[in-house]
Amino acid sequence: MVSYCQKALPYEACGLLSGYQATGNTLWKMKNESHNLNRFYMSAGSIKHAFEHMEEKEEELSGIFHSHPSSPAVPSSFDIENNPYPDLAYIIVSFYKGKVDVGCFRIKSDGKVLPLELIVTEE
Ligand SMILES: [Zn+2]
Repeated sequence: MVSYCQKALPYEACGLLSGYQATGNTLWKMKNESHNLNRFYMSAGSIKHAFEHMEEKEEELSGIFHSHPSSPAVPSSFDIENNPYPDLAYIIVSFYKGKVDVGCFRIKSDGKVLPLELIVTEE
């Protein structure tokens, strides 16, 4: 995920994670269709396409990730206001000041941000 986000610099990269019971087994690299340097946008069509393949693999959507090329690994106010998935892991890969940092959160629908523990296992 980090190397994928790194390649997209200076743009934000984004994607989805799916697996069994809140694991991120599969990484879905999604096209960032925003041309704005600090925004990301995944089209409904590409999300639907990913969902179909998740179903084939009998996996469920468990997380959403995007990168912050030049800000810390915490959700921006825009991220908090525009998160359609209050029950999923919300992962941010930051390259702030040249350092790689990964933050994992749950953004509740009331705007509360709860940190989640991110457990990284081997690929
Ligand atoms: Zn963001």
